[in-house]
Amino acid sequence: MPGGELPRDADEAMVKLVHSTECAEVIIDRHLDNPPHVPLPGRCCCNRCYPSLRPAQQYQWVPVNPAPPPSSAMAPTTDEQREGIYQELVRWRLVHWRNSWRDDWPQYGPKSLVSDADLNTIANHAGSSSAHRGNLADTG
Ligand SMILES: [Zn+2]
Repeated sequence: MPGGELPRDADEAMVKLVHSTECAEVIIDRHLDNPPHVPLPGRCCCNRCYPSLRPAQQYQWVPVNPAPPPSSAMAPTTDEQREGIYQELVRWRLVHWRNSWRDDWPQYGPKSLVSDADLNTIANHAGSSSAHRGNLADTG
């Protein structure tokens, strides 16, 4: 949203965090008045200090007015669709884990990325979340 007007309900601290290039942890510590601390060795604080943590895709923020989704967007999903969505999410998690995590973090399995319960929750709410897809526009 550079140069644009902020939505009325924008969290000023969050906007500052998003627009800064400084270490995210430093900004958060300052905002929360955390006492000084030494970073733990080997711990990656944020994707600004460790660019390899950045997602492979670039996202473009699109400001939207927070409003309740129209009721027509709440298309009910069938049990069969939910199961299909769940299986697709499990497959996505495995591929993502194999490609991006397995070699660097062998002590963590795919379920450490996203639990089965969370995938199930996503699958169960697939019909109701479709109205929110416009919030992030994929530009990658
Ligand atoms: Zn950092």
